[in-house]
Amino acid sequence: MKIHEYQGKEIFRRYKIAVPNGFVATTADDAATIYTKLGKPVSVVKAQIHAGGRGKGGGVKLAKSAAEATTLAKSILGMQLVTHQTGPQGQKVKTILIEEGSDILKEYYVGITLDRRISKPVMMASTEGGMDIEEVAAHSPEKILRETIEPALGLQRFQASRLAYGLGFAGDAAKQATTILLNLWNCYDGEDCSLIEINPLISTKDGKVLALDAKVNFDDNALYRHPEQPGLRDEAEEDALEVEASKFNLNYVRLDGHVGCMVNGAGLAMATMDIIKYAGSSPANFLDVGGGANVTTVTNGFKIILSDPNVKAIFVNIFGGIVRCDRIANGIIEAAKNVKITVPLVVRLAGTNAEEAKKILLDSGIKLDVADGLKDGAEKIVKAIGGK
Ligand code: GDP
Ligand code: MN
Repeated sequence: MKIHEYQGKEIFRRYKIAVPNGFVATTADDAATIYTKLGKPVSVVKAQIHAGGRGKGGGVKLAKSAAEATTLAKSILGMQLVTHQTGPQGQKVKTILIEEGSDILKEYYVGITLDRRISKPVMMASTEGGMDIEEVAAHSPEKILRETIEPALGLQRFQASRLAYGLGFAGDAAKQATTILLNLWNCYDGEDCSLIEINPLISTKDGKVLALDAKVNFDDNALYRHPEQPGLRDEAEEDALEVEASKFNLNYVRLDGHVGCMVNGAGLAMATMDIIKYAGSSPANFLDVGGGANVTTVTNGFKIILSDPNVKAIFVNIFGGIVRCDRIANGIIEAAKNVKITVPLVVRLAGTNAEEAKKILLDSGIKLDVADGLKDGAEKIVKAIGGK
């Protein structure tokens, strides 16, 4: 789960990670009031959307007077901010953060995430701050310093100071940076994050080190341990269909192809997406209806898939292990009565009572095609939409 920068910074304050003073606003008048309250010659007006790259997209601007803060707030609030992470349609800005401006000496990157190869968290730090860290990783990987964190011990002070000195900090700034890195680990660990990034972490001309940006992602599987975290969710930032699917407890991820997929089990869903590609088309979604595929889940699955205007055909690929195929077949027929299926439908059922299920489907009078096996199904579905 993602949250906004201003929410991330509130959490940073609790963990004693230094951030600039600032307040959120939703109107241009509030922006002027905040500018005056901050009482600094320069303030920064920052669009609050979940995507990064706001600076380059025109969502981060400096204001040198209350009047300028008003003008900037007016132009940023309500804008459709396009960044390399939003896609061409952009994301509407509803909230802005107004912060006191910092006199930047240098920008750095620090972040923590799970290194799945070694099953341990890793802290990364780089002098190439303020930039796209993926670019740095691709073109100059030697500029990224790493410390593997022993989960039971946490980030050790010697590791934090090794990174701080490695980044070139010295004297009191090195002490401040070390403290921030240690507290960043406390935050990652304490809030059960899947990713936490400060990009940029900055040193200022008056000798301070602080977090100028905050990216905090929570591990969805640990939300139950943090009752306050779901309250930070901003559904307007998420794909509307994915939000809808999560209400039905469906694991749905929207993609940009044309074949809607309804599958049980994440592994089979991945294999289905692969074979659709192999057959010459692309999946419109990942959808795992879970182990207990029944009338309700199948109906909801059809509704979600058909709400996507890109979908030109639907491939149902379900393995009847715990749930027998004949029951799933009846579920599909029931669901097809509830939802008007307007596109070609190919069904592949494998497992217990698969033959019986095939007969039920073919006798149902519903316009569909049954497939023998994964490959046959993928070929039939791609043919149904004319190859693409
Ligand atoms: P992002 O582009 O979405 O990652 O937004 P950031 O919060 O990282 O801001 C982008 C860039 O704006 C930073 O890398 C800084 O160069 C610049 N910036 C942000 N706040 C300030 C500030 O207080 N003073 C100055 N001079 N630049 C700032
Ligand atoms: Mn940033």
